[in-house]
Amino acid sequence: MPELPEVETIATDLRRELVGATFTGVEIHWPAIVATHSADEFSRNLCGQSVLDVGRRGKFLILHLSGGALLFHLRMTGQLLLWPSHHPRGVHDHAIFHLADGRELHYCDQRKFGRIYLVCDANEIVQELGPEPLAKDFSPEQFAAMLSLRRGALKPLLLNQRFLAGLGNIYTDEALFVARLHPRRRANTLSPDEMCRLYDAIHLVLQSAIAGRGTTFDGSYRDAYGQAGHYQAELRVFGREEANCPRCGAKIQRLTVAGRGTRICPQCQPE
Ligand SMILES: [Zn+2]
Repeated sequence: MPELPEVETIATDLRRELVGATFTGVEIHWPAIVATHSADEFSRNLCGQSVLDVGRRGKFLILHLSGGALLFHLRMTGQLLLWPSHHPRGVHDHAIFHLADGRELHYCDQRKFGRIYLVCDANEIVQELGPEPLAKDFSPEQFAAMLSLRRGALKPLLLNQRFLAGLGNIYTDEALFVARLHPRRRANTLSPDEMCRLYDAIHLVLQSAIAGRGTTFDGSYRDAYGQAGHYQAELRVFGREEANCPRCGAKIQRLTVAGRGTRICPQCQPE
């Protein structure tokens, strides 16, 4: 469930806390969570490495290390929590990273769908992702050109990480509502004005969600300090089935588009 704004929030927290820190030990309690190594190899390769920077690409959190990169994909319920020394292990803490100053970074994941990658170069994992929607060089013209080449429906296209990186179910529904576009609209049928509206809506939704430190909708998302986000209070359609559209007052509907639960205002987003 964590999408671009949630991972960006965690990355900002961890950049403040971890740059300069050194890993001195790691406990792996669920070995399958490490996608690239056995638990022993992972520990051997990570220990002694220090954190140079913390970033994000799509929904991947990236710790740039002195000798490579440590990536986390949180999937449904993954959390990265920073604790003081000797913090008790939670029942879903599958990896515990020990830092030289005694602090601990706990990877907690109730559903165990998340993955950890230790690689020489982060591009080994993220090179196939589409553009970053908030990158300075991602222009409305580029987005329009991308859309005009696609015949598929907007909702699955925006969820496709190879098309555009970072959007999931929450922010796709929110952006399509703001842009007043039906999720089943074919991408290459959008007018230039509609393409611009969608570009602006994606920016508005992602930037305001980052400002709100992300969405804690079903209780699973937490920042690196264990705190919930605030953006759930500002959601327009996601999770508001049967509530009234904030723009026109019509009842918000839930439909299924490409197998995904989707919320729309039937008046503001006609098919
Ligand atoms: Zn409406």
